[in-house]
Amino acid sequence: MTANNNVPKVKLLIDGKFVDSKTDQWTDVINPATQEVLAKVPMATPEEMDAAVDAAKRAFKTWRRTPIGARARIFLRYQHLIREHMSELAAILTAEQGKTLPDAEGDVFRGLEVVEHAANIGSLQLGEIANNVAGGVDTYTLQQPLGVCAGITPFNFPAMIPLWMFPMAIATGNTFVLKPSEQDPMVTMRLVELAVEAGIPAGVLNVVHGGKDVVNAICDHEDIKAVSFVGSTPVGTHVYRRATQTGKRAQCMMGAKNHAIVMPDANKEQTLNAIAGSAFGAAGQRCMALSVVVLVGESAEWIPDLVERAKTLKVSAGHEKGTDVGPLISRAALNRVNNFIEQGATEGANLELDGRSPKVEGYDKGNFVGPTIFSGVKTDMSIYREEIFGPVLCIMNADSMDEAIEIINANPNGNGTAVFTRSGAAARHFQEEIDVGQVGINVPIPVPVPLFSFTGSRGSKLGDLGPYGKQVIQFYTQTKTVTARWFDEDEIGAGVNTTISLR
Ligand code: NAD
Repeated sequence: MTANNNVPKVKLLIDGKFVDSKTDQWTDVINPATQEVLAKVPMATPEEMDAAVDAAKRAFKTWRRTPIGARARIFLRYQHLIREHMSELAAILTAEQGKTLPDAEGDVFRGLEVVEHAANIGSLQLGEIANNVAGGVDTYTLQQPLGVCAGITPFNFPAMIPLWMFPMAIATGNTFVLKPSEQDPMVTMRLVELAVEAGIPAGVLNVVHGGKDVVNAICDHEDIKAVSFVGSTPVGTHVYRRATQTGKRAQCMMGAKNHAIVMPDANKEQTLNAIAGSAFGAAGQRCMALSVVVLVGESAEWIPDLVERAKTLKVSAGHEKGTDVGPLISRAALNRVNNFIEQGATEGANLELDGRSPKVEGYDKGNFVGPTIFSGVKTDMSIYREEIFGPVLCIMNADSMDEAIEIINANPNGNGTAVFTRSGAAARHFQEEIDVGQVGINVPIPVPVPLFSFTGSRGSKLGDLGPYGKQVIQFYTQTKTVTARWFDEDEIGAGVNTTISLR
């Protein structure tokens, strides 16, 4: 970044150089706890967008042939650099995004795990071989990179989600154009600087900033072969349609409404802690946050205890010690969440805990909402139908696990879900019957580690393959199947020196 009028400008990365945009359109990156303007981010011009894609296209010519070990070693160095800079990265992230410092470290760490996985690319990008599919004929597959790929990321995990994307795309031999969230691009850019320091060559990784226009340009660009998107459902649906219309591969990980079922035999203490942490932590701005809890049978009596637990959570700036719930990302997000709370009360849900306008000493301008709990929520209420993306928990009731499963399976989203129970049989029944892509059993936020893939489903996902783990190797490569026959009659058939033919 460079200083200008005392506010730094976020740079673009094009062909290995960090450059100032020539645009006249800039937006502010704002600290959500204080409203301080931290930086200005450019809306890149069409020429800058084209320059980034051109650089990636040129770099692909050599990068695709780079030995697998050379690619892997860059990510070995990169994981080391990220570890070394963990506190610095977390501090940048907390300042621009608002989440607590431990949550910010978690955000970086979950991305770091993908980088570690990318360093293991040698054993991940293997083809298959079948010997003697016909006499003297072998068939084998090659997993070859696609070309220029692109990633579009949301504000809520500005470290983890960019790291879901470019390390695996680049490790598999592609080149990449990244479009970070314009609301908090600074930690992403620090991670990109470290990637360049780790040895990613010029043009292999490029960054353009912007909003709708840049995203549309990515979807339309004829030299981009694949697009990975993470963000809200309306935007993801638009990106998927627009990108696939021009023949690109696309994967869009989108919005959610994650339900937990609480059975009366669940461990009460553990369950209430898990629910409070996952519903209100990161101010509810997680795509895997539990935003609906279905209390089965007598567990309905736990509501007062849950309310008491939620009241103990500390609302403050993310860098303050002991903070549990930081600010929402923007004023717009704050108004949206407050409006939902108003609507929920109007529509007849019981407002058990109202987190609006909390007193936060020293941060009277912050975008704060405290933990909020509604009981008696019905499926036709807007607080149930919409993704609120704030610290607001909806509580519903059911007489049996099957009734609760029916509610969840009727919801259009399929990102994550959880069951709390001590019964193995009940948990297994849930696992088999639930139609959601990521299932937790006494685990509130079941985000898989990169040995597996992120497997949100139904309305939370468009495209078949997940953004990391095994599936992403398929996403970022084209399978080429080779059927080969080598005529050996001149050597073996003709009975010449067999030591030569066996060499
Ligand atoms: P968003 O959809 O507003 O923005 C995502 C990206 O799209 C950003 O880079 C933004 O610049 C761009 N964008 C915004 N409006 C656009 C438009 N009209 N046309 C084209 N591009 C546009 O999402 P957000 O608010 O940054 O992130 C929160 C959302 O992301 C939530 O819905 C959350 O559930 C979802 N999310 C999903 C996952 C998942 O894995 N399923 C993970 C994290 C976040």
